[in-house]
Amino acid sequence: MTIETLTPPIPPKTQVLVVGAGPVGLALAGDLGTRGIDCLLIEQSDGTIVQPKMDLVGVRTMEFCRRWGLVEAVEKCPYPPDYRQDYIWAVSATGFEFGREPFAARGVEKNAPGSPQKRERCPQNMFDPILFDWARRQPAVTIRHLCRLVSFEQSADKVVAMVEDVTTGTEKRVECSYLVGCDGASSLVRSELGITLSGDPAVTYTTNIIFRSPALKKLHDKGEFYRLILFDPDGVWATIVAIDGRDDYRMSIVGTAAPRRYSEDELKAAIRRAVGCEFPFEIVSIMPWVRRLMVADGFGRGRVWLCGDAVHMFSPTGAFGMNTGIQDAVDLSWKLEAALKGWGGPHLLQSYEIERRPIGIRNITEAGGNLRRMVSPKPDPVAFEDSEAGRLARTRFGRTYAATMRREWFTTGIHLGLRYEHSPIVVADGTPEPPDDPAIYAPTSRPGHRAPHVWIAADGRSTLDLFGTGFVLMCLGDAPPDPAPLLAAAAQRGVPMTTFASRQPDLVYAYEQPLVLVRPDGHVAWRGNRLPIDLADLLMTVCGYKEPRNVPRPEVGFGQKHVLLESPTRKATTP
Ligand SMILES: Cc1cc2nc3c(=O)[nH]c(=O)nc-3n(C[C@H](O)[C@H](O)[C@H](O)COP(=O)(O)OP(=O)(O)OC[C@H]3O[C@@H](n4cnc5c(N)ncnc54)[C@H](O)[C@@H]3O)c2cc1C
Repeated sequence: MTIETLTPPIPPKTQVLVVGAGPVGLALAGDLGTRGIDCLLIEQSDGTIVQPKMDLVGVRTMEFCRRWGLVEAVEKCPYPPDYRQDYIWAVSATGFEFGREPFAARGVEKNAPGSPQKRERCPQNMFDPILFDWARRQPAVTIRHLCRLVSFEQSADKVVAMVEDVTTGTEKRVECSYLVGCDGASSLVRSELGITLSGDPAVTYTTNIIFRSPALKKLHDKGEFYRLILFDPDGVWATIVAIDGRDDYRMSIVGTAAPRRYSEDELKAAIRRAVGCEFPFEIVSIMPWVRRLMVADGFGRGRVWLCGDAVHMFSPTGAFGMNTGIQDAVDLSWKLEAALKGWGGPHLLQSYEIERRPIGIRNITEAGGNLRRMVSPKPDPVAFEDSEAGRLARTRFGRTYAATMRREWFTTGIHLGLRYEHSPIVVADGTPEPPDDPAIYAPTSRPGHRAPHVWIAADGRSTLDLFGTGFVLMCLGDAPPDPAPLLAAAAQRGVPMTTFASRQPDLVYAYEQPLVLVRPDGHVAWRGNRLPIDLADLLMTVCGYKEPRNVPRPEVGFGQKHVLLESPTRKATTP
């Protein structure tokens, strides 16, 4: 699957200029397109994915894919649906095995509890083309490759950006109402805004190598695996993942906090060591990268905002990076729509940072913990011996390691259990915050949480299929209060709102209250057993007319504070 290089003329004006067509920029542009928002997505490369990074599309992202009509495309992606996804920890592919966690092939995995979807193994070179095809089909979206943001200036009513045609070097002026930097970890947009980051800027210097070997699967007795975690007596030194479920494998040499570059001969020797013997293979690509655990101290300001790796940089342990970024895009998209269509209040966009930054910190902290749990344990040296004592030591280590690592492997709570606890556009109802367990998702309609999924018996849809465009007022039970006054008040202010009524017992039970107001991103804004007396106040709150006050500001709990990572392109481009 490839991405066609698109080079249409660069329009002088657009409503939203999205910088960077990685998965997050593609998701944002596509979602804005579904809202009819005129959007120009620029990407400095020609769209070629040299080496796929992410390969796990999480369950919440799959719920968005459901909203966008992309589930079938993801399910039909070329990653073999019958390829088993076991995790194995061992000395090498052909050496001693310590233990394993069996995982079904994606084609037979069940939906996550509380979701109409399941996660999918769909690596970036398969997933990005799906997002790209969908985004380019939106009439309001223009995608322009080989076009680089050089600089921008914002004023009270617009942003003026200078972009460069990478092929000719010609610069063009693009005027927009909003600019969103989805330009990755080295974000020029973040750097130009002077936004700092907190956390650990260099956890490890890691090297990824994709190698191709049709022979490998016949060499070992481990059977099909997704991930092989490789131990020596000092602990984990590398991992191998079945990146396409066929003949391509991605090996990561974990590395340390000290920079390290390998020669091709050293990398070949490392691959042989990981497999445990001489075997035929070819190196397809090499990608040295720095593992960072950082969250931006701001997510943008005024008319310029940031999403994805531009504001949070993950260790891949847990597969949260892109999935968190796509949630950013979904949160920001409806707020941009509301601002552009005039029904969003002056503080609505501020709520983007207030809602999403704590989620970035939560998920980064979890990913960092996962890394620590993965690399810290060291097997007893006896476990490397070919003896009965060695066998027993391997079994012992295998069990304890499995118990430790399950926290990384079962993360429905991380993906579905997020909540916008101190959001100024959510009306808290005084109920206590439920535990935020990484593994367990407990459905709730408590304001700020993702509205629960229930199958609608009458037509087979999920309740999640009701959400996406405007607000939805769920009117539930035998005699819910009349929603008409709220609908009228919303219509008067131009706020898009519809209702959905149901007496279906499990749906009524899951939604807990007779009236539940769900936002366009599928999170609950308000709930109650009757409409509030002051309907204008409710609408002003959920649409961001009120200035946020006394919002707690969480900090990243480790590493350095307020580091300015300058974009490598900045100095060359900005006088
Ligand atoms: C080994 C590895 C495995 C991973 N596995 C997973 C996983 O399984 N699941 C998961 O969710 N995440 C995973 N991640 C993280 C995930 O890959 C990233 O979080 C994700 O790619 C971020 O997407 P993005 O669109 O924000 O940024 P990027 O993918 O970095 O895209 C940014 C884009 O902006 C473009 N750009 C930059 N500057 C400019 C400019 N000035 N003008 C125009 N264009 C510009 C770049 O060319 C690039 O295409 C993994 C990461 C690694 C390293």
